[in-house]
Amino acid sequence: MKRSRRRRGTLLRIDDAGWVESALRTPSPNFDARPADTEITLVIVHGISLPPGRFGGPGIAALFANRLRADAHPYYASIASLRVSAHFLIRRRGELLQFVSCRDRAWHAGVSQWQGRAGCNDYSIGIELEGTDTTPYTSAQYAQLGCLIDALRACHPIADTVGHCDVAPGRKTDPGQGFDWARFRRRGGHPRHSPARVAVAVHTPR
Ligand SMILES: [Zn+2]
Repeated sequence: MKRSRRRRGTLLRIDDAGWVESALRTPSPNFDARPADTEITLVIVHGISLPPGRFGGPGIAALFANRLRADAHPYYASIASLRVSAHFLIRRRGELLQFVSCRDRAWHAGVSQWQGRAGCNDYSIGIELEGTDTTPYTSAQYAQLGCLIDALRACHPIADTVGHCDVAPGRKTDPGQGFDWARFRRRGGHPRHSPARVAVAVHTPR
């Protein structure tokens, strides 16, 4: 039987303050507190590149830091004033960046709902994959995403992993057809659209 490549991935650890110890920490001011006593039960996968279709530049981190210059690219004029963030970004080579503590509410989903529950930012973790809707995401990204979700599931009762398109249909399309949900599931990722189920290894962070 083929060895699971995911099992060879790096084990990630989330510290008591909600930060992945090995992630490149680039704090964003765009967050606030989750509502009291809100459990994190959802992971939302996004796709982003800035400028669109160009990979590896400083645009995404600049956007989340409110430092994107509106005149640096024609596309930036329409987004530079946005106040947005995500908890994580996984770059094309698998590099993991973290912008907001998992304990806090990042501003990634916007107007959204999942299974009848609105305001997904309240109870979700937002993970951006550097890419476009139509460009296949990389093996390094699938591997890092699997490791990250393993680490999140060890701390929180995550019941579902979905796309931004699933919680804001008609408004958002990411991560797009470039994200292979079947491949993600094969690596041990959470089933998409699964009925809520109890995670095996749940504990509450101190
Ligand atoms: Zn998105």
